[in-house]
Amino acid sequence: MSAYIINGLELAKEKRAQLAKEVEQLKSEGIQPTLAVVLVGDHPASQSYVKAKQKACEEIGIRSKLLAFPSDITESFLLEQIQALNADDSIHGILVQLPLPKQIDELKVIETIAPQKDVDGFHPLNIGRMMTGQKTFLPCTPYGILFMIQSLNVEIAGKHVVVVGRSNIVGKPVGQLFLREHATVTYCHSRTKNLREITRQADILIVAVGKPNLIRAEDVKKGAIVIDVGVNRLENGKLCGDVHFEEVKEVASYLTPVPKGVGPMTITMLLHNTIQAAREQKGK
Ligand code: NAP
Repeated sequence: MSAYIINGLELAKEKRAQLAKEVEQLKSEGIQPTLAVVLVGDHPASQSYVKAKQKACEEIGIRSKLLAFPSDITESFLLEQIQALNADDSIHGILVQLPLPKQIDELKVIETIAPQKDVDGFHPLNIGRMMTGQKTFLPCTPYGILFMIQSLNVEIAGKHVVVVGRSNIVGKPVGQLFLREHATVTYCHSRTKNLREITRQADILIVAVGKPNLIRAEDVKKGAIVIDVGVNRLENGKLCGDVHFEEVKEVASYLTPVPKGVGPMTITMLLHNTIQAAREQKGK
């Protein structure tokens, strides 16, 4: 039997319609949710991600303000810009598009963003809050993945979640989010031995590596839920995930496509966090 393909685009559309109503309500109370988007350099992928995020903001009534700087700016200049955004009451959320040029320390930049405006959920304080189960901004891609699985109405508690990839923005936090939901979580990475033996134990398999078609049918337990976070550009220009879609759809019970899977949910959770930031800063 072929897997049910999770339509991230459709799910994102439904959630965004609900968020648009929340923005309308805030506006009627005199609050205009506003996101500052900081872009450094002219990396084409970063430019297109920023464009997509700004468009999504506009569509639901969030104001976005782009601050675009050349790639040769100094770290101290960028930190000053962020401090100015921190102090600006009309800005509720700050997003710095990563990666940043080599001369700039990303962690320093993330730590400079005021935690109450850190709508990406990358600030160490917010990560600590997430790990200790406190209310905070959840990182957008992991939050989107959790939202997707919750929308399937499947039980997460007690399930074995295997996460392949341990980046600070996807792998590590997504495992923590599922731990909070009482799953048993295993992390795998480039030094993991016998990867297949572990992925085959997963009830829920989350793959965030960045290697086209890394996960094949033999790596997946029959009936598993498979979430493909990878976005890889092939030589023919097409996008593909980290999971071999055609093979794995014959084994999994649910599978996300690439594109139109996790990606639209990531942006949706950024919108969600920006609204949450606006509401909290105005004490609503
Ligand atoms: P990253 O920082 O490059 O981390 C990749 C992870 O994969 C690392 O932990 C690495 O292990 C592990 N890895 C590499 N080769 C492996 C192998 N052969 N077997 C097992 N693990 C391996 O990646 P990221 O930023 O998390 O992104 C991962 C992918 O998701 C990329 O394709 C990215 O474009 C995509 N992405 C998509 C979204 C979205 O919204 N759809 C958002 C973010 C990222 P080590 O730690 O040992 O090096």
